[in-house]
Amino acid sequence: MSTKLIASLCPYCAVGCGLFIQVEKGKATGIKYMIDHPTCVGALCPKGNSVLELLNNQERLVYPLKRSGSDFIPISWDEALELVAQGLARNLERYGPKSLGFLVSSRCNNEENYLMQKMARLLGSPNVDNCARLCHSPTVMGLGASFGAGAMTNNLLDLENSKCIFAIGTNFTEAHPIVSRWVEKAKDNGAVVIVADPRITSTTWMADIHLRLNPGSDIDLLRGMMKVIVDEGLEDADFISSRTTGFQELKESLSVFSIEEAAEKTGLDVAEIVKAARVYAKSSASALLYSMGITQHVSGTDNVMTCATIALICGQIGRPGAGVWPMRGQNNVQGNCDVGGMPEFYPGYRRSVDPKTIEFFRAAWNATDLPLGPGLTSTDMNDAAIDGRLKALYITGEDPIVCDANVNKTRRALESLDFLVVQEIFMTPTAKMADVILPAAAWAEKSGSYTSMERRVQWIDRAIEPPGEAKEGVWIICEIARRLGLGEVMAYDNPSQVLEEIRSLVPQYKGMSQERISRVGGVLWPCPDEQHPGTEILHLQRFSTSDGRARIFDLQNTPPGEVTSPEYPILLSTGRIVLHYNGGSMTMRSPSLQERESELYVEVNPVDASNLKIAEGEMVAVKTRRGEAEARAKISDRVMSGMAFMPFHYHGTNLLTSDALDPVSRIPEYKMAACRIESR
Ligand code: SF4
Repeated sequence: MSTKLIASLCPYCAVGCGLFIQVEKGKATGIKYMIDHPTCVGALCPKGNSVLELLNNQERLVYPLKRSGSDFIPISWDEALELVAQGLARNLERYGPKSLGFLVSSRCNNEENYLMQKMARLLGSPNVDNCARLCHSPTVMGLGASFGAGAMTNNLLDLENSKCIFAIGTNFTEAHPIVSRWVEKAKDNGAVVIVADPRITSTTWMADIHLRLNPGSDIDLLRGMMKVIVDEGLEDADFISSRTTGFQELKESLSVFSIEEAAEKTGLDVAEIVKAARVYAKSSASALLYSMGITQHVSGTDNVMTCATIALICGQIGRPGAGVWPMRGQNNVQGNCDVGGMPEFYPGYRRSVDPKTIEFFRAAWNATDLPLGPGLTSTDMNDAAIDGRLKALYITGEDPIVCDANVNKTRRALESLDFLVVQEIFMTPTAKMADVILPAAAWAEKSGSYTSMERRVQWIDRAIEPPGEAKEGVWIICEIARRLGLGEVMAYDNPSQVLEEIRSLVPQYKGMSQERISRVGGVLWPCPDEQHPGTEILHLQRFSTSDGRARIFDLQNTPPGEVTSPEYPILLSTGRIVLHYNGGSMTMRSPSLQERESELYVEVNPVDASNLKIAEGEMVAVKTRRGEAEARAKISDRVMSGMAFMPFHYHGTNLLTSDALDPVSRIPEYKMAACRIESR
């Protein structure tokens, strides 16, 4: 029997690293590195190296299940699909289409996500969202407002051309490890690396300048830097006048702002802010990198727009090595947004509030009616479930009971539903609350396309069969749609047919034939026709706004949703670690990862630990206004006094986090919760 090597992708983060899966006798028996892949060049981080432990895992869901009291019993696919159709139809009939909610998955491929949002909207429900709500919805809104496109401006390889790398609110060496190789290359070429982060991390170890700012003072830092830039005449006047609007308002606002004020608010020295500003503005090509340290705040969208603004006033965008690099989370979170997995947008970022959008898709989908206006975000769906407006929820490949902020509230929300269906590969805490569980194929067990954080669209073919009776999402969704009377407009034999429909409706994907995106490295959007090579760098000549000009915004910092108090005197922040991924449903089933980092911990500053009489390695209780979790204390000056840090992968962390929302993007403020820590 011959051994086959099937080109595939890492299923974890949005870097989109390529790899080969070795298949023998229908089984995945190994992986091989993909040295031709443009982004990873044959490298994988520990998660990518462990993917076989995921594929061959014995805990996979292998047949449909229905609730029986507090337990589940196996059922046939026919019964499961009937139950799902009945559960959705029952609530549709009784309470109307807005009583239905759909969470599409940034772990699923573009074709599955496109079909799920199409089914939701054909049923009349505007309530379709994905986990971008919890990580980079401010990027979609903020960069969309600033540049006209809510996406990474340059590809990752292009970091090599940068002469200054300014990383703010991102620990990319752990969250997106392969990005480090391109930052290292830039450093080898002489780039100066500035990292703004309240913690000491493996990313700050790469920094030439570490700005250890106070948590939540990002806009104050950026305004302080802009004050220096404008006062010293370091702005790019030609770029500002020819390609932007709004600079004058910003300049006037900065005239009554002082660097000393920025220093006081950030806790930094004036000299540090001045130095960083000069390096960023004067370098021939500066890259600005950010991640959830910027987005997960009540000011998340303002934070993103202020990152965009400093790039714009310095002309540090639209050139090799110069731009804004949002580091997005899941492997297909970009694609999920591209194909309509958000309530604000139909596929191709056509606004759901625009009647022309509805007309366009009514014609395209042969629909009598479609919902106008944004539906509920995932964070608003919880309130709607608790107050009875949302009755049925269909969740694919997401685990809100672990990943939402303030998960006690999410539990109440899911308990309030009349009907919950979860499509998953493992029995997650969220799946345990379902009425019906549908076992899904994992990424290497189905064909389809994925869009990485750098807009790289890559098609992979099925490498192995799904285990047991698990099925591909395209088949599952089409079968449910057929049972709901949508058979004629939701009939697809395979994902290739769905890709063709996406290409016909999403201008950014128009030139992306399956053959082209199946080649190693795929194609970067926008790709308007089949001769177009794809777009490595956005905004070279004009921005994607209606008039081609970018918008400069003058924004002030806003107070956090929650502040410390005598009862809760320590500020808790959360983040990623290299060995785990999001809610941990996959990585915590991988022995090679789990054995190296298996339990929840809390980093506590030595001064605070001494005051609280907490010893290294001791189990402590971390308490906030919303809940309590047990964690092992790690005493470390990685966190400043008055601050604590917990990784968010473990069930426990989000019992504590704040669900205060950014009013624009509706993202929760995961990064700022007031807590107290007690010995047990
Ligand atoms: Fe996978 Fe991301 Fe690691 Fe690459 S960097 S191997 S895509 S988890």
